[in-house]
Amino acid sequence: MELTHCIYCSKATDKNLSREHLEEILEKSNHNNRDADVTGILLFDSGAFFQVLEGDKRVVGDLFKKIALDSRHQDVTKLIYEPIEQRSFGEWSMGYPKVTRKELEAIPGLNDFFGKGNSFAELEEGRAKQLLEAFKEGRWRA
Ligand code: FAD
Repeated sequence: MELTHCIYCSKATDKNLSREHLEEILEKSNHNNRDADVTGILLFDSGAFFQVLEGDKRVVGDLFKKIALDSRHQDVTKLIYEPIEQRSFGEWSMGYPKVTRKELEAIPGLNDFFGKGNSFAELEEGRAKQLLEAFKEGRWRA
């Protein structure tokens, strides 16, 4: 297996996506990803998504293509797609760490970015890596 991660951001088509609809996405993701040996996290804040998908290169690539076509979000932007030595979120078929805006603003290196009201949809590769690191190590893991 060629272990790879794919990280993207997008905007929810419905900016006020309900908890119920978010749970629908998470339930389906957990079910499908478990079968496909895909792990990762999904974040949602201010109408934007940030997702990390980890697994076999081909599986992750195909899954990203499918997700990108989902009408529940738009402006799907692939930020990182590269080989990795090990998974960062191996225990989660799709984790959903609940993070507040205040907590986002407190992430070292990203306080300015989130403090200015930016959302995940404005991230680029460098900041995506910083966010990934924060979630790899942060207290949201608990
Ligand atoms: P089905 O569930 O049978 O769906 C068939 C078709 O209907 C698909 O094209 C699907 O996109 C569409 N569909 C289903 N429900 C809805 C709905 N409520 N509104 C609009 N269209 C709908 N899937 C994963 O497997 N793993 C993930 O990690 C993952 N992450 C996602 C993250 C985001 C932000 C979003 C928006 C979706 C994500 N999905 C994920 C869902 C993914 O886009 C597909 O909907 C899902 O994988 C399809 O599952 P299925 O092949 O079993 O088909």
